[in-house]
Amino acid sequence: MGPSQEAESLGGLWREALREILEEFHVPHHFSRVARKVEAHPLVRRLGRIWPELPLNERRRALEALTPLLREAALRSRPYCVRCGQCCRNSSPVLQQEDLPLFESGLIVPSVLVTLRRGEWGFSHMEGRPIRLEMERVKIKERPGGGCIHYMDPQRACSVYEHRPHQCRIQACWDPQAEELLRKGTPLTRADLLPPDHPLVPAIREHEDRFGIPRLQGELKPHGPWGEWERIVEEERGFRLGLMNHYGIEEAEMEFYFGRPLQVVLRACASQPYPSTPAEPRVPESRKKSR
Ligand code: SF4
Ligand code: SF4
Repeated sequence: MGPSQEAESLGGLWREALREILEEFHVPHHFSRVARKVEAHPLVRRLGRIWPELPLNERRRALEALTPLLREAALRSRPYCVRCGQCCRNSSPVLQQEDLPLFESGLIVPSVLVTLRRGEWGFSHMEGRPIRLEMERVKIKERPGGGCIHYMDPQRACSVYEHRPHQCRIQACWDPQAEELLRKGTPLTRADLLPPDHPLVPAIREHEDRFGIPRLQGELKPHGPWGEWERIVEEERGFRLGLMNHYGIEEAEMEFYFGRPLQVVLRACASQPYPSTPAEPRVPESRKKSR
């Protein structure tokens, strides 16, 4: 907010921001309708009342807090997808029951998948916060900076659009019913995707027995000496290498069959800003910096 804006009314500022958002969503002509809804929102009304008394730095914070509300109101004003790619840039889809034929026919292959194992942390975009997984999830891999690996930024398009997973097909960011459908979906696990006689099933079981997150957390002291965790991390690394050599598994496929390396999983647990359960492992600060 520049000096000239500081004297502006709250209404002027959020209207300007809303115009920009509607431009971005390709529906600037929805302005009057969306503005009326925003105006009536309890948060906006409350802010309007206290705005004149708010110190400048708090005004900035208040405007920032309004941004998600403006974006949501803008999206909900439009009952169709404008293929802005925001959902693809945010995350990647979790495979659902409906995706089984895509996997079985080879349209989705192990090398594009990652398994998030039970007990790991994952970011829930629906809940807007990290959650601890009570059940395993298999999802399309994400790019290092976040977002789906199939999203092509320059073209703003999906490289597998014809065969995109179910979650992408029902994704409708403006529609609460679509969110509800996603919530009620049945996520696939490795047990659903691999036949019981698949040669890697015994190795997956052994991996879970030895390096399952809930089991490790139960056995090792969460804040105990790093050495204990380091030993397990090394053991798991060796186990993975042995399997790759023995079965000739491609490196890119390992994250589907055995999840992410334990070291990566522990780092994700350690970076959680949320209150930990007593059994949550923590990597000591000194170690986090050197790794
Ligand atoms: S569903 Fe995704 S691509 Fe379509 S408008 Fe919403 S965020 Fe954009
Ligand atoms: S598979 Fe395609 S539609 Fe689905 S999130 Fe990835 S890029 Fe987007």
